[in-house]
Amino acid sequence: MTELDCLIIGAGPAGTCAALRLLQLGYRVGLVERARFPRSQIGEALTPGIRNILELLQADDALAGLPHIAGRPSVLRWEHDALQPAAQSDTAVVARAEFDARLLALASSRGARLWQPARVQAIEGRPEAWRVQVVETATGTASHLRARWLFEATGRHGTAITRWACAPNLAALWAEFDAAQVAPDCLAATRVEALADAWLWASVLPSGRLRVMVLADPHAIGGGLDSSWRRALASSRSLPALADLAPAQPLRICSAAPYLDTAAWRPGRVKIGDAAFALDPVSGSGVEKAMRFSLQTAVAWHTWSTSTDDAGRSLAQQYFSQQLNQTCARHVRWCAAHYASAWSAAGDFWRARSTPPIQRTTPTASAIGEPTADFFSSLAEAPSAEPPPAGPDQWPANARIRLDAACQLVPQLCVVQDLVRTAPALTHPHLPRAVAFVADQAIASHWGLLRREQTLGELHDALARTMRPEAAGAMVAWLRRSGVMVRAA
Ligand SMILES: Cc1cc2nc3c(=O)[nH]c(=O)nc-3n(C[C@H](O)[C@H](O)[C@H](O)COP(=O)(O)OP(=O)(O)OC[C@H]3O[C@@H](n4cnc5c(N)ncnc54)[C@H](O)[C@@H]3O)c2cc1C
Repeated sequence: MTELDCLIIGAGPAGTCAALRLLQLGYRVGLVERARFPRSQIGEALTPGIRNILELLQADDALAGLPHIAGRPSVLRWEHDALQPAAQSDTAVVARAEFDARLLALASSRGARLWQPARVQAIEGRPEAWRVQVVETATGTASHLRARWLFEATGRHGTAITRWACAPNLAALWAEFDAAQVAPDCLAATRVEALADAWLWASVLPSGRLRVMVLADPHAIGGGLDSSWRRALASSRSLPALADLAPAQPLRICSAAPYLDTAAWRPGRVKIGDAAFALDPVSGSGVEKAMRFSLQTAVAWHTWSTSTDDAGRSLAQQYFSQQLNQTCARHVRWCAAHYASAWSAAGDFWRARSTPPIQRTTPTASAIGEPTADFFSSLAEAPSAEPPPAGPDQWPANARIRLDAACQLVPQLCVVQDLVRTAPALTHPHLPRAVAFVADQAIASHWGLLRREQTLGELHDALARTMRPEAAGAMVAWLRRSGVMVRAA
């Protein structure tokens, strides 16, 4: 009987990130993945925030040389009904199957016990003492294991009655064209276009093929996949010539509906990645958010597991719930504003997606499974912090400065040395969220010093007497940039 602390079901980016983090924290980890890798997976455009996650997981080496495309120009048709060059994006388009496979190989090489391709046949027992039967698909061999906790990282697969729709339903139609089939300028840039009743994304993949994806209302597509596809391409500004071209790979469809699972933490089991919340692909940040949430869940679970009292366990669960609700709510709010900004925003497709959901005022039977008040209060937060005034980063070292009077310290759930704790954090109208640490230094520990009226040079020297010089430099740089300091009269 294999004994595990955590059994992770599903080895996409969420599952492997959780595995790598839990291994770092010293746990015995198992992974069950039903597909043989490398397996194809949609979601190849990776946002730059993934870099620091890979750094934390010491996974950079494993991904060195991963086939990818970066630094391509982008062309946008969104706010205006015309194609416009966009600021060069720092998103990288990767060979996603290879990305997932390398992360899994790394988790396995660091000691995660892996069953693949395999399925969970039975789960018995109770929280903290699950008995799980795993069957290998190829041989039918059954393994019996004990696990304290189950981490469900199965992505969008399956249906859960606890999934709450954050926005109207959305479907993705996609296909690939060989480079030889399309004009060279189709391959030269990443394209995002708002159409009259859908939107479109197109980019060359590391394989050299052009991937085109159309996001539309599934009711509008109905059974007419081909006709919807051709109509969307024909109405695009950048790719109308592809409307009558047979793709190199058959047209496919999948759900892209955003949702939040309202019961993601239950006794003895927790959901991560797309199993916990799925984002509208319009931001292209699903993989990053899935990976980040896995790290947060690993730390929440570690706190829960090492707590000796109810207070510690409750803090862990609160942190999990806060991260889940805030991440999802902020994304939902951002998406609604983004849809509302499209040139075609008056159309039905766009109007339905331009307003964030509202909380029901009276609970009804159908309201069971709605998100918590946390979700709705994050949704109602001010859209963004006031921008910092121009200038602080230009101040000379001898300028006399002090913390702005609007700065306050408020208790906040934070991660301190891999555990969830309550720590004082700085709030200010210029900060999008409360900040407890800068360059690993607790801001509250230097509160008296920061509130003094002094020159930037004096502040730097005083900080450098209590911390590493690089940390003092980083803290002063952050204070200047963030807009929480003002020039003394
Ligand atoms: C149309 C579309 C386009 C997208 N584009 C982007 C993009 O450009 N950039 C981006 O960052 N994100 C994008 N995303 C989102 C991104 O793909 C997901 O957020 C990400 O894959 C989530 O990772 P995950 O590990 O939670 O799930 P997945 O990547 O889906 O991994 C889940 C794994 O679990 C396995 N599994 C499922 N059920 C079981 C089971 N019962 N037992 C064992 N194993 C199981 C599956 O085989 C799979 O390997 C897109 C999503 C959609 C729908």
